Amino acid sequence: MRTQDASAGIVPDVPPADREPLLVYGPRSTSYDFGPGHPLTPRRFGPGISLLESIGAVPGLAPEPATDDELAWVHDPAYVEAVKAFSRNSSGPPRSGIGPGDTPAFEGMHEASAAVAGGSLRAMEQILRGEIEHAFHPGGGLHHAMPARASGFCVYDDPALAIARARRDGLRVLYVDLDVHHGDGVQAIHWSDPGVLTVSIHETGTALFPGTGFPDELGGGDALGTKVNIPLDPGTGERGWLAAVELVLPGLAEVFKPEVIVSQHGADAHAFDPLAHLRVTTTAMGAAARLVDALAHQWADGRWLSTGGGGYDVYRVVPRDWAHVWLAASHRTAPSAIPEAWRERWAEDAERFGQSPIPTTFDDPPGAGLPYRAPDKAADARAIETAEAVLERVLELLPRPR
Ligand SMILES: [Zn+2]
Ligand SMILES: [Zn+2]
Repeated sequence: MRTQDASAGIVPDVPPADREPLLVYGPRSTSYDFGPGHPLTPRRFGPGISLLESIGAVPGLAPEPATDDELAWVHDPAYVEAVKAFSRNSSGPPRSGIGPGDTPAFEGMHEASAAVAGGSLRAMEQILRGEIEHAFHPGGGLHHAMPARASGFCVYDDPALAIARARRDGLRVLYVDLDVHHGDGVQAIHWSDPGVLTVSIHETGTALFPGTGFPDELGGGDALGTKVNIPLDPGTGERGWLAAVELVLPGLAEVFKPEVIVSQHGADAHAFDPLAHLRVTTTAMGAAARLVDALAHQWADGRWLSTGGGGYDVYRVVPRDWAHVWLAASHRTAPSAIPEAWRERWAEDAERFGQSPIPTTFDDPPGAGLPYRAPDKAADARAIETAEAVLERVLELLPRPR
């Protein structure tokens, strides 16, 4: 039990957490491994979890595989069987989105992938039982997995499964996807459910995988208006990205009245990320996480499951993004500096992988220290225009809860 203490830097307007958030991490987390050279590397857990531990986080739930029955809430059982076949023999011909390229087969891939799903699912169950308010699953957030195929490094869709679990209890779910890529799998799986509001803020599909996530993707049937997409131009930085987040989330939450929030905090919108073209900072990512926390308290009795996601600058960015999500869930502000011992521990690895030097602070300087060019400024302005237009359209359509 932690009491309110001015020195702890409690964020205003948010009640003190009466328990530490649950950190979901365990031995199986690093078994989700597509092999050396794959961008979604389990190497991220070394620096990522150790930085979390340096700010007081302790892993409290080790992921174990979700059952086949649970996976069938969001996946075609024939697809699960296909994953199991690759899991036993990784050399089969490509099918179901699995094969050479983004999502290659590996021995044990069913168990490893089902464990990611199980981690998010058990965390959601603890939230639903009221044992905890907030949980963070950095290895989760595999938002591209589709009902019957793997996609974009994602085999089983753990955020979609956690949402499905909350829906079985009849709760209205707000899903916030801050990854630089469109949260297409979660959107597809809950496309026709008016009780799931998905909001994805990402680099436009005209420039980046998976090529979807446009404002006219609004949900099917009764769910029209509950699928929200804010595509951003390449070059959009924290000024446009965070403004868009702050513009749409409070207004949508007020109308939708979520009873639980699931959020995906991919670190790949960062200016240093090698796979995408936005210029967001860890400072802005932290502010976005604190907004999601505040909305969870305002609308959902504090029920909030956060996950990681993409993020391919493993030393300079991912650990600091995860730390910000954890700090938001702990109602603490970032310490003034990153522990020197932690930086020393990872400096050599960071240099070897061309992700050096490791910053000295959790926050970034404005623009992550990069020049603010005229096209970036235009992209930021356009982000705000897009967010305003999307909000206006969605507020007209969004079904009001009875
Ligand atoms: Zn909170
Ligand atoms: Zn991503």
